[in-house]
Parts: sequence; structure tokens; C-alpha cells
Amino acid sequence: MIPYGRQTIGAQDVQAVLSVLESDWLTQGPTVEHFEAAVSEYVGAKHAVAYSSGTAALHGAAWATGLGPGKIGATSALTFAASAHCLRYVGADIELLDIQSDTYNISLSGLPRVDAVIPVHFAGLPVDMAAIGNERPTVVIEDAAHALGAQTPDGPVGISTHSDVTCFSFHPVKPITSGEGGMAVTNDDEIAERLRRFRSHGIVRKPEQGAWYYEVEELGYHYRMTDIQAALGLSQLQRLDHFIERRNEQAEWYRERLKSLPLVLPPAAPSGFRHGYHLFPVLVEDRKSVFEKLHVLGIGVQVHYVPLHKHPVNKHLKSDHLENVEYIYERILSLPIHPSLGVGQQEYIANSLEDILSE
Ligand SMILES: *Cc1c(COP(=O)(O)O)cnc(C)c1O
Repeated sequence: MIPYGRQTIGAQDVQAVLSVLESDWLTQGPTVEHFEAAVSEYVGAKHAVAYSSGTAALHGAAWATGLGPGKIGATSALTFAASAHCLRYVGADIELLDIQSDTYNISLSGLPRVDAVIPVHFAGLPVDMAAIGNERPTVVIEDAAHALGAQTPDGPVGISTHSDVTCFSFHPVKPITSGEGGMAVTNDDEIAERLRRFRSHGIVRKPEQGAWYYEVEELGYHYRMTDIQAALGLSQLQRLDHFIERRNEQAEWYRERLKSLPLVLPPAAPSGFRHGYHLFPVLVEDRKSVFEKLHVLGIGVQVHYVPLHKHPVNKHLKSDHLENVEYIYERILSLPIHPSLGVGQQEYIANSLEDILSE
């Protein structure tokens, strides 16, 4: 089966992991620090704090920015569960927003009255963060799980000019991988300190009372990344720009090859932006049957995502205003795209899709 996304691992990645395995540190240590410094430099944010997953990083971001019971955070209804559930983890409530039909992202102008907003850079196309203007909610957390390596007129996604924290994921289908892993970046010293405390049980060291002495000040979690994972992530980061270029070439190839087929191509990046193409989601009629026929042919297309309000865990959320989400969800289908996908495979995918759509 050709997967819709997968990791691209090279000899240098294998070597990087092996050297950590033979070193003194396996748990969070010097390699995590190097990985954090490298991501912070790449995106242009002051601090980077590694986590055990993107979900854990979002949980940390919600906590570190002071969200909790009585607060409401808004996010897209067409996203992965973690974008919204990080709010519920800290006791805050979720308000679901419809997406724009020309970007599949939420719009930051004219937001409802909420305490927080969590824009998701869907498929790797950056949300126009500058549109947030002066009436921004108190807390802005970017869910950039799809968008490490994407660019905006302000700089790389993660520069966090218009947000408090930006979170990345290093799951194998994401732009780079550490096996499992995530990172929260911020320009705020106090939020960075809270992000560090939260991932390590809420522990604060007090060496003035003895070299061994520490106190647990708040109820933190154990959300640390290992040096083994960081070695893989750091090695992958060296090839991030190359990976994103490959994805953009593949996307252009699909656009040209599929343009006369009865389907809707994904939103493209406006000028001044670079798309990350984590996904290549097309819209087709009779999606279920197209999905099944492609799977029979060994093409692992996927649906991103079952909208948040359709999950039983979120059945209390208001959802009668999500027209674009409903329309797009009925038709959306992610075609395979990842740096190790070959031209021959892309031709096979396009030819198969053409045959199915002309039946
Ligand atoms: C993958 C993903 C996450 C969570 O990342 P994990 O590392 O798998 O926990 C969060 N938000 C979105 C939009 C994602 O796609």
C-alpha cells in the first residue's frame, strides 16, 4: 500500500541515533537541548521546549498560557482531536469555528468573543496570522503540527510574531520526525519557563537548600522527549528544506496532471507564503467509493479529518454553523504526498484516480 504520508529516513539519521545509544544519555539530555536550539534558530523564536508528542506540547501550551476552567478557546472544527482537546485537558471549553472555503483554515478576522484561539495551519498552508489585528483574544496558540518548514510574510511558521506559543509535532507523517515527539516555541520568557516546568512534574530545583533539593510547585506531567528521539529529530531538521521542496514539486506535478479531472484541487499558497504540503487534499464527489477503489489498487488515501463535533466525546459542542466544514468533509480525500514518494508512484496514483473518476 502506498501510504498517504510516511517518514523519510537516511543513513545519517540512523548514525545519529546510534551515536546517542552509545553515549551516556538516553533520556532528556544534551541532544534534546541541541534539538531545541536548532528548532528555535530555524523558526526564529526565542525559546523552544521539546515534548514527548505534539499533543503533549499543546497541553503544555494551554497550561503555560493560563487557560483553565471558565475560559473558552476557539479552533477549527476540521482538525485532529488534539487541537481542541488540549483545552479540555486544562478544564477550558471549546468553541468550534467554520473554515474558509478558499484556504480550509479559520479566519482570524471577526473572531467571536473567546479567551483563546488555536489556529491550525491545515495541510501545511499557513493561516494568515497578521489578520488577527489588535482585538486578539488574550491567548493565541498556533497548532503548526502540519507546518514546520512553511513560510509566511513574517518569516517561518513558528516565529510567533502574532501568537504566544506555536506547537509542532514530529510524528512520522509530519514534516520531520523523531518517532514520537513535539515542540512548543515562544518568545515569552515566563511562558517558556512554565512550559519547561510542566513537562517535568512541575519540579523546581532549589540548590540553595542543598544540591539534592527540589519542590513540586504545581501539578505537572512527565512529557519529556528522549535524547534518542532528539537525535533523530535534529538529523531530520538538516533536510527539512529539501523535504519541503520535494513536497512542493510533487504538489505542482499533481496540480498540472489533475487539473482537467472532475475534482477540486487544494488551496494554493498566496504570494509571500510557502506551503508545507503536509497533505494534498482534493475534493471528489462520491468520496466513499473513490476511497475504496483506490485502496483496492494499493493507494492509501486518507480522510483528514472526521470533524471534531462528530466524535461522541464532543457531542455537547455547538455545531449547527459549520457549513463549509460539513461540505468539505463529505468530499475531502488526501492523496499520498511525502518526500520518498517516487514519480512512478505519483503517475500510478493519478492514472488510477483518472480511471475511477471517468467510470
Ligand atoms: C499530528 C497532529 C497533532 C498531534 O501531534 P502528535 O505528535 O501526534 O501528538 C496535533 N494537531 C494536529 C493538527 C495534528 O495533525
